[in-house]
Amino acid sequence: MSTADEIAQLAEPIGGRFGEFGGQYVAETLMPAIAELELAWRAARSDDTYWAEVDGLLADYVGRPSRLYHARRLSAEVGAEVYLKREDLNHTGAHKINNCIGQAVLARRMGKRRLIAETGAGQHGVATATVAALFGVPCEIYMGAEDVVRQALNVERMRLLGATVHPVESGTRTLKDAMNEAMRDWVTNVGDTFYLIGSVAGPHPYPWMVRDLQSVIGREAKVQLRAAAGRLPDALVACVGGGSNAAGLFAPFVGDASVRLVGVEAAGDGVATGRHAATLGAGRVGVLHGSKSYVLTHEDEARLGQIAHAHSISAGLDYPGVGPEHAFWKVSGRATYVARTDDEALAGLERLARTEGILCALETAHAIAALDEVASLVGKAGIVIVGLSGRGDKDMVTVANRRAQAVTP
Ligand SMILES: *Cc1c(COP(=O)(O)O)cnc(C)c1O
Repeated sequence: MSTADEIAQLAEPIGGRFGEFGGQYVAETLMPAIAELELAWRAARSDDTYWAEVDGLLADYVGRPSRLYHARRLSAEVGAEVYLKREDLNHTGAHKINNCIGQAVLARRMGKRRLIAETGAGQHGVATATVAALFGVPCEIYMGAEDVVRQALNVERMRLLGATVHPVESGTRTLKDAMNEAMRDWVTNVGDTFYLIGSVAGPHPYPWMVRDLQSVIGREAKVQLRAAAGRLPDALVACVGGGSNAAGLFAPFVGDASVRLVGVEAAGDGVATGRHAATLGAGRVGVLHGSKSYVLTHEDEARLGQIAHAHSISAGLDYPGVGPEHAFWKVSGRATYVARTDDEALAGLERLARTEGILCALETAHAIAALDEVASLVGKAGIVIVGLSGRGDKDMVTVANRRAQAVTP
């Protein structure tokens, strides 16, 4: 089957929505740009020449297919057959590049010669700067001034890759302010500019497009597990920030009713403390970044309903919104969402390192930390695929500091 045929089998949003979630909550001035993008995406996703180019780059440049690895020692410890879908082995060390390649190829088809993006932790900025260098096009990244200081290493990576990084000084000087600034740039320069969003968030068609592009994770895993075990998995587990690696793993299995889908959010210091990023678990329905979904809001009288700060040890899960399709899967009962704290994630990272010799990202470690619970649902002979979204090199300083704190009285 061709990639276009596989993609055609994935659910399409109806009227730009997954159930009641999604939509296009943007300024009137942005509507023409979004309509142009939607048309272009609709044409590209059923076009074999588009996928030939994307799949070619995913193979030769990114190194796909990523491996599906049967983690035997981890399996024995958790009491289920665990397979790891190794997105950490991709070029740049995570799943984000899959989406950036797809959007960059689309931008070129649309005749847009300039890429812009916003980034919080810097990982999406690095992935965008990477594809801009690959395609030889200018790239401008908006990043909260606070984040520019906190994520100096990623800023240096982006600059080495030829991108211009704009520190955003407005508001709280973090991700949501950077997002507003990127939107402003897009409205102003829509003729030649493509806005590359990094997760299944933003106005329609972004959540749909990014999920389709990341579905390579689940499409490959399905074929690989059939070859390895001759059947479907019993459960899929992935961490959820904006939700792109999870949506990409889940999407090709949504129609397979026997497969449990489990998303793992960041509980930070603990959901009860208020310092967390468990948007689906503890947020409310609202609008953020152009779409309706669950969001984290302040609950005190003075700021009631305003977007609150998310907290997590992993910068990549530190987002106060979540993709609208996850909201739909949650309320429809198709997927379940649990949360793990910073300490639990660290223990998950240590466990994977000790049992399998793999240092995963702190984001990914939240999924590892949910394995005991999932194993108890599927049993010893049950098969669980974990989305191993990224490698841990970027997190070693954070991990070292945290471990040092833990041993000093
Ligand atoms: C960015 C990132 C995430 C979170 O993003 P999603 O859109 O939820 O996938 C998870 N893991 C890694 C390694 C990341 O870099």
